[in-house]
Amino acid sequence: VENAVTRGAEGIGLFRSEFLYMENTKFPTEQEQYDTYKKAIETMKHPVIIRTLDIGGDKDIPYMGLTKESNPFLGYRAIRFCLGRIDVFTTQLRAILRASAYGNIRIMLPLITGVSEVRSVRTILQNVMRELDSKEIPYDKDILLGVMIETPAACMLADILAKEADFFSIGTNDLTQYTIAVDRGNENVAYLYSAFHPAVLRSVKRIIECAKRENIEVGMCGEAAGNPAMIPLLLAFGLDEFSVTASKVLETRKNIASWTMKEAAAVTDTVMGMSTEKEVSAYLSDYIATKMSNGK
Ligand code: PEP
Ligand code: MG
Repeated sequence: VENAVTRGAEGIGLFRSEFLYMENTKFPTEQEQYDTYKKAIETMKHPVIIRTLDIGGDKDIPYMGLTKESNPFLGYRAIRFCLGRIDVFTTQLRAILRASAYGNIRIMLPLITGVSEVRSVRTILQNVMRELDSKEIPYDKDILLGVMIETPAACMLADILAKEADFFSIGTNDLTQYTIAVDRGNENVAYLYSAFHPAVLRSVKRIIECAKRENIEVGMCGEAAGNPAMIPLLLAFGLDEFSVTASKVLETRKNIASWTMKEAAAVTDTVMGMSTEKEVSAYLSDYIATKMSNGK
C-alpha cells in the first residue's frame, strides 16, 4: 500500500486478501484481518477494494483441508469455497465491515458465475451487518459490493449482474484463461493465451457496455489493464478505472495521457474489425512503436 501511495495511486483496485491466508498456518482471525484492512485504508486514504478470499483449486493450503482435484481451475475455489465455508467467509466479512468505519472500503467477489452467488453473499452480508448493529459496532452501511467478471458465464450474464452488483472489475487473467479454454500456467499452450484474442476483446467490450447501461462503475484489475497496447481499446470502450501493480502506476498514467479519445476510437475500430489475435497484436505493436518514436 505504501508503494502504491508513493507512486500516486488513487486507490487500490485489487487488495489480494489471499496473502493473509497463504502466509499463515491457520485461518487468520477476525482481529488479524481487521488490523490489516484498517491499516490499508488508513494508509491509502482513497478507495480500497478488498477481494474476498480467492483461494483453492491449485493453491493448496494444508490447513484448509482441500481435496486434490483433477481440474483445479474448474473446481472448489474462490467464491465457491467461501459459500461452502460460511464460517470462514463470515469472519472475513465482519473484519472488512469493521475496517470500513475508517474509510472507503469496497468488497469484491471473485469467480462469480451467476446471480444466485451474489444474492447469497448479500444475505450473508446483511446477517453480519445485523449482528454488528446489535453490538453497536460501527461500519459503512452503504459499503459497495462488486463482482469480478472473469468467467464467460459472468460475461454473458453481465447485463443481469450489472443490476445486482454495485460495480464490476474485469479480471482478464482468468477471463482469458476461461474464454480461450487455455490453462494460464501451462507452457504447452501458452502461445494461445492472450487478452488480445478477439473473443476476449469482444467480452471486455460487452462487459463495459453492460456496466454503463446500468450506471455502475467498471474497472479492470487483470494484468491487461497495464498493457500499453490495451489502453486505447479500454479508453474507447469506456473503462472507468485502471488497476495495475504499484510499479506500473506512473507508466500507465503516462500511457493513458498520450491518447486522445478520437485516436483511441479510430484504433479500436480497426482492431474490432480484425479476426485473429495475430493481426490485432501485430497492428497494435506497430502502431504503438510508431507513436512512441513520434514522441506522441
Ligand atoms: C484475474 O483473474 O484477472 C485477477 C486479477 O485475479 P487472479 O490473477 O488473482 O486470478
Ligand atoms: Mg482471477
